[in-house]
Amino acid sequence: CGIFGVIGVSEAANFTALGLHALQHRGQEAGGIVVHDAEHGFNSVRRFGYVRDSFTSQTVMDALPGTLAIGHVRYSTAGSKGQTAIRDVQPFFGEFAMGGAAIAHNGNITNADALRRELIERGSIFQSSSDSECIIHLMARSLQRNIPERMKDALRRVEGAFSVVAMTRTKLIGVRDPLGVRPLVLGKVADGWVLASETCALDIIGAEFLREVEPGEMVVISPEGLTSHRPFEQKRPRFCIFEHVYFSRPDSILGGRSVYSTREAIGRELAKEAPVDADLVCPVPDSGTPAAIGYGLESGIPYAMGIIRNQYMGRTFIEPTESIRNMGVRLKLNVNRALVRGKRIILVDDSVVRGTTSRKIKEMILDAGAAEVHFRIASPPTAWPCFYGVDTPEREKLLAATMTEEEMREHLGVDSLRFISLDGLYRAVGEAGGRDPDAPQYCDACFSGEYPVEPSDQLEKGFRL
Ligand code: 5GP
Ligand code: SF4
Ligand code: MG
Repeated sequence: CGIFGVIGVSEAANFTALGLHALQHRGQEAGGIVVHDAEHGFNSVRRFGYVRDSFTSQTVMDALPGTLAIGHVRYSTAGSKGQTAIRDVQPFFGEFAMGGAAIAHNGNITNADALRRELIERGSIFQSSSDSECIIHLMARSLQRNIPERMKDALRRVEGAFSVVAMTRTKLIGVRDPLGVRPLVLGKVADGWVLASETCALDIIGAEFLREVEPGEMVVISPEGLTSHRPFEQKRPRFCIFEHVYFSRPDSILGGRSVYSTREAIGRELAKEAPVDADLVCPVPDSGTPAAIGYGLESGIPYAMGIIRNQYMGRTFIEPTESIRNMGVRLKLNVNRALVRGKRIILVDDSVVRGTTSRKIKEMILDAGAAEVHFRIASPPTAWPCFYGVDTPEREKLLAATMTEEEMREHLGVDSLRFISLDGLYRAVGEAGGRDPDAPQYCDACFSGEYPVEPSDQLEKGFRL
C-alpha cells in the first residue's frame, strides 16, 4: 500500500490526491483521504479504483476542506483476499475522549488475528476485516491522555511490519516499525510538512526531501514544528530488499540510493553471474526495464524493446484472481514481432512468482519467431510468502517452493533460466561484502525463508517454517 500525509498547506486534500497518484503503483484497488479543519471537523472520502478517477472531481474535492490530511492507496495482502469491501478501505477513523484520529497503514500486522480475538473478547466492535483496524482499538483502550501516547501504547503491542501515517485535529504523525520493513519519508513543502511512502510523492508536489523516518521512530508534527520519539526497543533495521527490486518506483530514493541505479546494478550483477551468448537483451516491462538496461551495459549485448506494454493496464499482480491474471498478461504485454524474429533473446524480469507471466511471455515470443529465449531474473527464487505487506500467494503456488531451478526452466519451457544470487542482490543494493548470514542487513524472507518477525498468526493457521 501507499500512504501520504500533509500538514500546514492550504489545500491539503489536493496535495494528498497528487501524492497518492504518485504512489498508485503501491496499490490500485482503492484509495481514501481524510482531512480536518476547525470549521468542518473531520471529513473523509474512500473509494474503489484509481486516484485519478476518485479524487479529481470538484464536488469530491470540495467536500474535503482543510490544511491537514492523510491518505492511503490500497492493495489487499494477507487477510481479505479477493473482493475488498469499502469498509476495508483506509484511512480508518476513531473518536476518542480527547478528539478524533485517523490512521493509514502500510505493511502487515503478523499478530493481528490474536489481537483481534483479544480485543473482541474485551468488547471492541470491529468494522472491517483489515489487520490495521487493530491499531485504532488498541488506541481506544490505552489509558494515556493524548493521542500520540495512545498510539505508542498501541504500536508496542503490534508485531510485524508497519509504516503508519496518522492525524489528530492538530497533528500529523508518522511511525515506522522497529525493523523499518516498509518505507516512509519526510519532506517539507512551503510552510508545511509531508510524510509519504516514497520520495516520488514528494516530487509531484514540489516538496523537498528531508530524510527518511527512521526505523523505530515516531515523528509528531504540529504547527509548532516536529518532535521525534523512540517508542520501541532499538533493533537492527531490516528494510524490505524487495522494495529495491520491484515494489518502489525507480525514480524514488531509498536508503540514500536511487532505486533506478540499484536496479541497473542488479542487472549488471546478473550479467556477471549468468552470462549467455545472445542477440538482444529485452526487459519484461516495466518491472524488468532498469535491470535489463544494466544487463545490456555489462554484457555489451544490445538492449531493445522486444515486448511492448500497453500503458493503460495496471500491474498484473494487483488483479486478485488467477483467471484475470492469466488474461492480464496478454492485455498488458505484446511482442514486438518484427524485432525478435530469428533472434536469440535474453528476457529480464524482476521476479518469478507463480510463473504465469513468464510462461505466457515465452509462448508469445516463440510464437513471434524468436530463435532462443533465455530468462534472467533480477531477484533470487521467490520460495516463501511475504507476511509483511507484499502480496505473494501461499507457499504451494510459488514455483520456487516446489521446483528446482532446472524444473522451473523446463516448466517455463525456455532455453535457460537464471536468478541473481542472494549475495549478488546484496552487493547490488550496496552491501559490498554481500549478505551477512549472522545478521542480514535486510529482510529477505521471501527468498531465504528467514523471517525477521515470527509470523505468529500464520504459524497458528498451520504455516510451517
Ligand atoms: P508470476 O507471473 O510469476 O506469478 O509473477 C511475476 C510477475 O509479477 C513479475 O513480472 C513481477 O513484476 C510481478 N510481481 C512482482 N512482485 C510480485 C509479488 O509479490 N506477487 C506477485 N503475485 N507478483 C509480483
Ligand atoms: Fe520484502 Fe520479501 Fe521481506 Fe516481504 S518477505 S518484506 S517482500 S523482503
Ligand atoms: Mg512485471
